[in-house]
Amino acid sequence: MRKQVKCGNVLIGGGAPISIQSMTNVDSKDEAALLTQIDQLAKAGCDIVRIAIPDMESARTLQKIRPKVEIPLVADIHFDYRLAIAAIEAGADKIRINPGNIGSRERVKAVVDAARERNIPIRIGVNSGSLEKDILDKYGGVTAEGLAESALRSVQIIEDMGYDHLVVSLKSSDVLMNYRAHKLVAEKTDHPIHIGITEAGTLKRGKVKSAVGIGALLLEGIGDTMRVSLTADPVEEVSYAKELLEAVGLREPQVNLVSCPTCGRTKVDLQGLAEEVERRLSETDIARGLRVAVMGCVVNGPGEAKEADFGVAGGDGKGVIFAKGKILKTVEEKDIVDELMNAIEGK
Ligand code: SF4
Repeated sequence: MRKQVKCGNVLIGGGAPISIQSMTNVDSKDEAALLTQIDQLAKAGCDIVRIAIPDMESARTLQKIRPKVEIPLVADIHFDYRLAIAAIEAGADKIRINPGNIGSRERVKAVVDAARERNIPIRIGVNSGSLEKDILDKYGGVTAEGLAESALRSVQIIEDMGYDHLVVSLKSSDVLMNYRAHKLVAEKTDHPIHIGITEAGTLKRGKVKSAVGIGALLLEGIGDTMRVSLTADPVEEVSYAKELLEAVGLREPQVNLVSCPTCGRTKVDLQGLAEEVERRLSETDIARGLRVAVMGCVVNGPGEAKEADFGVAGGDGKGVIFAKGKILKTVEEKDIVDELMNAIEGK
């Protein structure tokens, strides 16, 4: 079992549920814009919000917003140790630094001492663009081994300062390198691990890379907190992170809908039906924990639909509604969604 740290009121590691993070992308000096976006992220299901702190004014803004929101806030710091200290004093619940770009040991220690005083965790964030020169030379460029070594070296530096409220992260936009680097680190440290694919890309490509890269790690049991990085509205990152956790069985889905891919046997508008059922179920909590099947025909349809808690198997302009393995009724295509919803609602 990995160690556990506390970020505000959210536990990370030690068997806690995998928390979802995202990052604001509005101006970190703009209090109103930050509050609006943090609210959107929290409503979407985000557990922890990270904010870039590139200057002192942003740290002052963090101080103003900290008491106004409940969700834990992480300050993302690069290069300037004074910003890290200012963010900690401003009330950050965790800071993310890359010790490799913070500078001398004394500066890193000043940050660690400030974190210790407030008892907040430090996320060590190493990415493929910021590996130390000696590591690049040793491995002949950016490699999984180099990423892992860099992360473990940073962990060691902070552990040697007597602090172990740490979260480790290492990110590459190369899915295979990312996977291998995480496997190496997971074997060699017991600190919680923050997972993600950095610079994954735009919505469509980024989702595929994240599904493979993050999904593979989750299936290996690696990952205590996660961020899906997308070149898109951060709210998209949160909803997709939830979908990923549901897909690997780590979160109970709001809608566990199975539907067939359709083929030449389909004689109802199955795509339309499945989308409508999904839309209606997503508006309510009544089907949480239930499996609902929308199948096109009699070949696999009745079997799948019977295995589900509720289901429909399409026929020629008709649908057979099933509940708990039993046929309830056969209805006209236009009534399928209403009748299925009635069955789920127990009407
Ligand atoms: S359930 Fe029927 S309609 Fe759907 S893909 Fe299978 S055979 Fe085709």
